[in-house]
Amino acid sequence: MEVVEQAREAFLSGRSRPLKFRVQQLKSLRRLFQEREEEIAAALKQDINKSQYDLQLFELIGIQSEIRLAIERLAEWAAPRPVEKSLLTLTDRVFIQPEPLGVVLIIGAWNYPWAVTLQPLIGAIAAGNAAVVKPSELSENSSKLLKELLPQYLDKELYPVVTGGVPETQELLRQRFDHIFYTGNPAVGKLVMEAAARHLTPVILELGGKSPCYIDKDCDITVACRRVTWGKFTNCGQTCIAPDYILCEPSIQDRVLEEIRTTLQEFYGDDPVTSPDYGRIINVRHFRRVLALLEGSEIALGGQSEESQRYIAPTVLRDVRPDSKVMQEEIFGPVLPIVTVSGVDEAISFINAREKPLALYVFSSRKRVIKRMIAETSSGGVTANDVLMHYTVPSLPFGGVGGSGMGGYHGRHTFDQLSHQRSCLLKPLALEGLNRARYPPQGPARMRRARLFMQTPLCRCCQPGCVCVCAVLASITALGLLVALLVVLLKDTPAS
Ligand code: NAD
Repeated sequence: MEVVEQAREAFLSGRSRPLKFRVQQLKSLRRLFQEREEEIAAALKQDINKSQYDLQLFELIGIQSEIRLAIERLAEWAAPRPVEKSLLTLTDRVFIQPEPLGVVLIIGAWNYPWAVTLQPLIGAIAAGNAAVVKPSELSENSSKLLKELLPQYLDKELYPVVTGGVPETQELLRQRFDHIFYTGNPAVGKLVMEAAARHLTPVILELGGKSPCYIDKDCDITVACRRVTWGKFTNCGQTCIAPDYILCEPSIQDRVLEEIRTTLQEFYGDDPVTSPDYGRIINVRHFRRVLALLEGSEIALGGQSEESQRYIAPTVLRDVRPDSKVMQEEIFGPVLPIVTVSGVDEAISFINAREKPLALYVFSSRKRVIKRMIAETSSGGVTANDVLMHYTVPSLPFGGVGGSGMGGYHGRHTFDQLSHQRSCLLKPLALEGLNRARYPPQGPARMRRARLFMQTPLCRCCQPGCVCVCAVLASITALGLLVALLVVLLKDTPAS
């Protein structure tokens, strides 16, 4: 495929490697968002009725913070990372050198089409790679605009955009890449991993799933429901880490429903169809899929819909059975089932009986409950007493586990994931006597010495350039050891 070959040639030319070039590309990308915000907002409005505020909160602020962080920290991230040494490698330089992997394929999803496509690209540029960007065909307007804008700001050959649907993505997946970063549903995630396996290409899979939300009876239910309502109905429920369903005791179900009703009224008014802050379903196929999930469950709030607008009102289902339709797949729409459980024990068993979720939420005033939820379950990430917020911390790796994906990104984590962590040992040609313990002819004395040299770790501070007290002490100790060692070696007799 021509664009992939071109990207590889451009990568092999070496121009993506200098830090100065990477920073310049990142600054140019930042300029794209400063200069073209209105066009981006218009495309998102057409795609998914995204409001101006949600554009800022869920797409632009994240992208701009990631660019700023990468520009500020790139020199530190890309620098050699000294590691602990042993006596055997005392005189050597031992470090990890992050290096670019090559050509990365980034396949994005449609729900936050700019954030999920460009945040990986920021890491790919920062790490010195070339990257082929494949935005989702479902967010058609954003996808077209991305293809038009990116070459105006970035190196065209290093970072091409390929648009199109399944056939185009499949064609891309037949090519050889050095890394594939896929965001989307788990079924396609399996196809991506299968295709990657043919070339032994590593993958990051940012998938979805059913993220549970346990509301303990011992908590501020008003606050809990405000936060859950915000996280669930933002972007019309089409958020990978939206709380998918609520688990709570039957005794608080009515209270939870009442608080969600009040909050919905406050956020979106009497009729959310008229609210500028309430989104739409991406297309008719998903609209019908989400509505079909309501079958067989009792609607407590909402339920109204309008196909011509792809509008589904914020909907809450009560007393939902675990075997009901809505509990069999990720909802990815504005429908919130409440499943009742007898308490935290049953909530934990319920969660553990299913695929590991991308996110897990627990609301409780009791630290013990929060601690147990974290210790006794597994998920990509956890937020206690709020929703979505762990996503906003760039120092936390964002990603799934098990069925919800593999590999974490954001900030330095993206840089690390899209770099090869190369192990480097630079030995001087001098001091050959120090190596005698590992050479034949071997004998018990040399073996004892080899064991001592290899098994004695040194502080990580004893590295070139480090001037802390520990390093000074370590240097003095090392010098002493070196002298002692030389004395021993000079006395060394040939092994018998
Ligand atoms: P989608 O339909 O846009 O598909 C994602 C990408 O896969 C697109 O670029 C598309 O071209 C490609 N694709 C689709 N079918 C394919 C096939 N048969 N072969 C090859 N490529 C194919 O998006 P989606 O999958 O509907 O996205 C929603 C899912 O993504 C949800 O499960 C959501 O939870 C998840 N998601 C996860 C994250 C995250 O960060 N973990 C973020 C956003 C969305």
